[in-house]
Amino acid sequence: MSYEAYKMNNIGFTTKQLHAGYNPAEHYRSKAVPIYQTAVFELGDYDRCLRLFEYAEEGHSYVRFSNPTNTVLEKRISALEGGAAAVSFSSGMSAISNTLLNLAKEGDEIITVNTLYGGSTTLLGKLLPDYGITGHFVEDENDIESYHKLINDKTRAIYIECLGNPGINIIDIEAVAKLAHEHGIPLVIDNTFATPYLLRPFEHGADIVCYSATKFLAGHGIIIAGLVVEKGGFNWLNGHFPQFEKFYAENKAQIGDKILRQVMFTKRLRMRFLTDLGGHMSPQTAFYLMQGMETLSLRMDRHVKNAQAIAEFLEQHPAVKKVNYPGLKSSTYHALSKKYFPKGPGAILSIRVKGGLAAAKKVLGNVKIFDYMVNVGDAKSLIVHSASSTHFGQPKNIQEKAGVYEDTLRLSIGIEDIGDLIADLKQALDSII
Ligand SMILES: *Cc1c(COP(=O)(O)O)cnc(C)c1O
Repeated sequence: MSYEAYKMNNIGFTTKQLHAGYNPAEHYRSKAVPIYQTAVFELGDYDRCLRLFEYAEEGHSYVRFSNPTNTVLEKRISALEGGAAAVSFSSGMSAISNTLLNLAKEGDEIITVNTLYGGSTTLLGKLLPDYGITGHFVEDENDIESYHKLINDKTRAIYIECLGNPGINIIDIEAVAKLAHEHGIPLVIDNTFATPYLLRPFEHGADIVCYSATKFLAGHGIIIAGLVVEKGGFNWLNGHFPQFEKFYAENKAQIGDKILRQVMFTKRLRMRFLTDLGGHMSPQTAFYLMQGMETLSLRMDRHVKNAQAIAEFLEQHPAVKKVNYPGLKSSTYHALSKKYFPKGPGAILSIRVKGGLAAAKKVLGNVKIFDYMVNVGDAKSLIVHSASSTHFGQPKNIQEKAGVYEDTLRLSIGIEDIGDLIADLKQALDSII
């Protein structure tokens, strides 16, 4: 496939996940994306050095802020997402923490929800407040008024996830985006559980998307990785973001007004945060991630098909008290699921078993194909007890707001043969009736 072909508007997602962002002619016609295993690049001559450090010329000098292998990955995720630019980070938490620090400074506030990934909850609830950035958690994430009530002139963003953890709740993204934009602030979404194959948040009004690429994007469970994608065009000069006004004034002449306005968020992430805090992804990791992403759409189709079949099986099982999966007609989120996730609402679900903690422990001890692991989004099926792991140490009322009880188990459904997965869960659950 020629390099130019992937830029055609009508090209499909699967074609892009294999080709986008890579021009073999720029890399000795190597068909695989090469791993540039180097810490530094030669500067060439004095004038080029200046242009690189002014960001007036695209190129690479020191790998704390960029590397050609990562550049291909960043262009590829932007293409899949329908975004303008991306930055790759050493982990999902690095992507999220740097994003929030790019948005807010001392005295600023971020509005968020109780159904976040555990690390993000402690980041917004415990760590950032020590630095003067307050995370405000809405009372009811399904009620737009709950968000509205918390907005004031210090609010710098609304931060949500595409599918809540572990209750797999769905927030009405378009309504929240509209509210954010009415107040001149961006909507940031962690799209880890869905991937751009199942949900493209920019099409629903989001401005920034964060990923733990450790999960479905990679799929193989062999790396820790994070990504931030910018839709492009958000007006960062609207009076709410003095840090961007300063950045714009300092860099407009070299980078150019048009480019800077279009991708100011990711430019500042790279030029300030990768440079000063240093959380860039290694090129080796970028390579492994692209290997995984080559099969993303195929894996996700199989993941959601298996998840739907398992949710339906679990709903019928006498040892199961409740199944949280928006693909079920019985789910409170079924209508939102149909709207936002026409291909299926991901492959993570949670259940409550009858018989309390003792029964939950027995199921964990009895599964044979499901791995008892804290990860999600692996090609292999995983199970975990949320209260004693991902949500460990949180007060009971906070756990319950996220849908975590002592009898809650979270399942991440893999791509194994569906008959084997159902048989495994059946024998484990039969043991507690
Ligand atoms: C795993 C995860 C993270 C954190 O990502 P790491 O790559 O482990 O740092 C953030 N958000 C969600 C939704 C996750 O599942």
